[in-house]
This record gives sequence, C-alpha cells and structure tokens, in this order.
Amino acid sequence: MTLPLNASSPAATHANSTEDFARNLASIKTRIDVAARKAGRDPASIRLLPVSKTVPEDRLRLAIAAGMDFLGENKVQEVARKAELLADIPGLKFSVIGSLQTNKAKYVAKFADEFQALENVRQAAALQNRLEIEDRQLDVFVQVNTSDEDSKSGLAPADVQAFVEELPQFDRLHIKGLMTLALFSDDKDAVRACFVRLRELRDMLRDSAPAGMHIEELSMGMSGDFELAIEEGSTVVRVGQGIFGARELPTVNN
Ligand SMILES: *Cc1c(COP(=O)(O)O)cnc(C)c1O
Repeated sequence: MTLPLNASSPAATHANSTEDFARNLASIKTRIDVAARKAGRDPASIRLLPVSKTVPEDRLRLAIAAGMDFLGENKVQEVARKAELLADIPGLKFSVIGSLQTNKAKYVAKFADEFQALENVRQAAALQNRLEIEDRQLDVFVQVNTSDEDSKSGLAPADVQAFVEELPQFDRLHIKGLMTLALFSDDKDAVRACFVRLRELRDMLRDSAPAGMHIEELSMGMSGDFELAIEEGSTVVRVGQGIFGARELPTVNN
C-alpha cells in the first residue's frame, strides 16, 4: 500500500524494509533537490537529518542499511539507549534536537556528535564539563524561538547575540548555527516568517559574532514545511515522518 505524500499528510507510509526506507529517503532527497533548484540554490548545500525518535532498534537497522548514518533524536535517554544498542555499527552518529535538562548533559557529551537545542549558559557549562571528562567535542546549534509561542523552547531572537558572546569560553562546543521550529500552522506566510526571522538573525550574527565563531548553518524545516524552509535558506532539514512514517503520538514537545 502506498499513500501519496502531500502537505496535509506529510508522513510517508510506515516503512518496514530497507527498500521502503531507501525509497522514502530518495523521495525526500528529490524534493530537497527540486526545492533547492527552484530557489536557485545548490542542493549539496542542504543536509538531510533523518529524525528517528520513537523508531525502535529493529526498524532503525533497516533504515541504517538504506544509508542513514546520522540520526536526529529529541530525547537524550533515547539517544543513550540507541547508541548502546547500535554500537556495533561503525560511523553511526546522533544529533540531539530536543531540549536538554542540565543534569542529562553527560548523555549528550558521551553519545552525541551534535546538539541543536542550546538555549542557556548552564547547559553550555554542563556540556563543556562533561565533554572534558569524555575528551570529546560537540557541534552545536543555538535554538531560537521564532514563533513567540510560550510552548516552544529556545531564546527570544533579541537575546541571541548576547548569548553567543558568552560561548567562546566553552572551547569544546563548536557553534555552527541556529535552529528553530516554525509555527505549526496551515498559514504559509506565518510559517515562512519564522524561517525569515532565523535567516535574518544569522545574517546579523555573521558580522557581529565573537572572533573565530562562524555562525553559518540554519537548521529549519521538518516533514511538513521543509520546502518552504529551503526557499528561505535552510542548510539542515530535520525530517522524521516523511521518512519513517507517521508517529502514533505527537512527540514534538519543544
Ligand atoms: C520530531 C522533530 C522533527 C521532525 O518532525 P517530523 O514531523 O517527523 O518531520 C524535527 N525537529 C524536531 C526538533 C523534532 O522534535
């Protein structure tokens, strides 16, 4: 059975074989290519981060066999569990894309290669401390709340510049760019406004960030809105349901 992918139903058919995953992955990559070319951008400048939260180990192995080697997860304990279960797979990497309680920084420092939801100095200090213990480094995105919703994590856009000025002291954190979750809405203009806000903030920080810090990346766009995000300059799209199929529970709790 195949269901069409469209805006009202961004989820792919529940994938259950390596072929299913390869097909879903190819379909999303084609859509990224088309959106990039339409925007006059090089498709190679956009990274697809498959979001595997809630997907169990057996299905993950099929997805990995289809070529996914860098997976996004929103819960740190789920990353720790999956990293241990899948430790036999060489080169597998995890990106933590969900909010982090400071007391769980040790899991990120130990198991993740990237953290996309940095939003306060306490987290940065806890990560630095644990990364020193693990003798590891971490790529980091600063999460920005571009939709003004209280339910969303992230810094207010006006607070981001002062925040990044505090970050050079944490030398194990490599600040790559900004991340946002747009408004969940059918109003495309309202969604687009979130992406534009993040891009404008990045452009401003390119000139004003502390010496040696290169804030270039824009992690924005999910299954339902990644084409719009690419039009507005996204360099990382985080796609879960478009690859893995619909999740049973609403699990975006950022
Ligand atoms: C779950 C999640 C995604 C992916 O959402 P889909 O609708 O499954 O594509 C992207 N970003 C964050 C922060 C998430 O928690």
